[in-house]
Amino acid sequence: MVELVKIMNFYLTTPIYYSNDAPHLGHLSTTIFADIIVRYHRLIGDNTLFLTGVDEHGEKIALTAEKAGKDPQTFVDEMAIRWQKYWKSLNVQNDIFMRTSDPRHKKIAQELLVKIKEKGDIYQGVYKGMYCTGCEEFKSERELVNGTCPEHRPDQISYREETNYFFKLSKYTPLVKKMLEDGQIDLIPAGKKKEILSRLNDDITDLSVSREKVSWGITLPWDKSQTIYVWVEALMNYYSATKIYDKESFWPASVHFLGKGNNWFHSVIWPALLLSCELPLPKRIFVHGYYNVEGVKMSKSLGNVISPDDLVGKFGVDGTRYLMCASEPYFEDFSVSKKWFDEVYNNDLANGLGNLVSRVSKMASELNISHKSDNDFNAVLEKYLDIKKGFEEYNLLSVVEKVRELITATNEKLNKDEPWKLKGKEKEKSLKQAIDKILEISLILTPVMPATAKNIMDAFCREKITATKPLFVRLVS
Ligand SMILES: [Zn+2]
Repeated sequence: MVELVKIMNFYLTTPIYYSNDAPHLGHLSTTIFADIIVRYHRLIGDNTLFLTGVDEHGEKIALTAEKAGKDPQTFVDEMAIRWQKYWKSLNVQNDIFMRTSDPRHKKIAQELLVKIKEKGDIYQGVYKGMYCTGCEEFKSERELVNGTCPEHRPDQISYREETNYFFKLSKYTPLVKKMLEDGQIDLIPAGKKKEILSRLNDDITDLSVSREKVSWGITLPWDKSQTIYVWVEALMNYYSATKIYDKESFWPASVHFLGKGNNWFHSVIWPALLLSCELPLPKRIFVHGYYNVEGVKMSKSLGNVISPDDLVGKFGVDGTRYLMCASEPYFEDFSVSKKWFDEVYNNDLANGLGNLVSRVSKMASELNISHKSDNDFNAVLEKYLDIKKGFEEYNLLSVVEKVRELITATNEKLNKDEPWKLKGKEKEKSLKQAIDKILEISLILTPVMPATAKNIMDAFCREKITATKPLFVRLVS
């Protein structure tokens, strides 16, 4: 009997990042979490599609380009190359690198706006209020702290009044709320869902979807004096990409990954726009918190910024990928420091995994042990169901904790067996058990540290095991 296995489509997106500057720790973490989850789905046999990219329009980009003495298109072209190279250097395997200045995206965004207008969901009005150019967003009183945006400099907020077009967001929010409540849109983790549901109890103001004075953007099809509000067309990229790259069967997205600052846009505005367009909604939205440094927000003026380059320079690509998992702001914001990263690297990688691999490979090299493994990722997951759950729910911190336990238990077993005192079959048995555990651990870590996992498997799955070089060099302070 032929068993039919249904291959699942898995489409994951990161936000498309504002390309006005180099990637910071927040971009790094979101993109690495995303890459790990997509690699996990690829390993379990899903048909995957992974999108990241850049958001290239808006006032902030135009101003940065001007300061650099460049026209906006040249500026974003250069930035796009820089970001793409960057993700490649971190072993991020995105299938699509989306750019909103792509003429094909512009056309699809315009078509969607026309569809929304024809549905009767767009009207003309006057917007008055405080606008933050950092967020490219009008801010309500309740979002401001001492009159300024909590995420940006005070000089980035100003009063504005302009005629533009509005989307009837309030028409759709009751349905969006219901869909979030009953899980049709699975917003996780629960705390982030609670925040959105509570905000949906407030009065909802409609969303202005065009800008009068922003020229660097996509022209509104029916009024050439306006451009589409950068956030609205940026959200549309997740859908337009599937059409542009001939991946239409991947819509709706399986999950959108984002930081908490973008929650409202992805969990309320985006579903409302899709409902108006009569398109299917994303199945899941995963919102993570932010990093801070010992409880204080990272900022250039405080001089406490930890940059991706600091981490990669010190810990290497796989070390950095692992440290991102070990610090994942899954439930709340996560407090880190340079010292914290050093300690986790030393404890988990240099002393933990690295030491285990080198001591076992050294002892095995003294015997004539050969080892075969079928290296089946799915079989290992079936054995460690809480690790599988961690990957399925994007709780990478829980995966790291389980791996720590496995490493500790393997080391303890070795200390108890004392294979260095044993001889012959007894010694071989103890080492083979340790090797099996190491191979399980490296399989589990394949999505997290792909190169390291491969090195470990290559070292042990061979005719004659030889002593490995240290995988992670211990840092001395
Ligand atoms: Zn802001």
